[in-house]
Amino acid sequence: MTLPIRTYPDEVLRNKSKVVKDINGKIITLAEQMAETMYLSRGIGLAAPQVGESCSLIVVDVGDGLVELFNPTIISSEGLLAPYKEGCLSLPDITLEIKRPDTVFVKGVNRNGKEITIEARDLMARVLQHEIDHLQGTLIIDRISKAHRQLIRGKLKKLRQENT
Ligand code: ZN
Repeated sequence: MTLPIRTYPDEVLRNKSKVVKDINGKIITLAEQMAETMYLSRGIGLAAPQVGESCSLIVVDVGDGLVELFNPTIISSEGLLAPYKEGCLSLPDITLEIKRPDTVFVKGVNRNGKEITIEARDLMARVLQHEIDHLQGTLIIDRISKAHRQLIRGKLKKLRQENT
């Protein structure tokens, strides 16, 4: 089953996600439905708030297989601040050039409750940072300059009109 994707300016996208304390059948089902929703939408990452759930869970697949991560956090980042045009399933028709470190170390828990650390580079590093941002209520439109934001204000207005 796929889930409807929440889009800007839905307030749920602004919530801070709660730590998952009990990885039970219900939340594993949510993770599976999120993966299905991501693939159907041709996305490469999805965070729980994007389907209306304020819990700390992300799914990612940049072409190397599905990664499902509960309570992910960035432990450290390094490397160049690389610019890259990012899209977001919650901001349809908007792509923005965002600068992020090209290497990150991310810690989280898998569905068996085992703690795992991922050293991610390039696209994987970028997607993990983008999805972990969602868990904090941060969107790509928060990571651009005021001047840049002015340029897309028409598109944002259109989304607000469509979604409220
Ligand atoms: Zn997004």
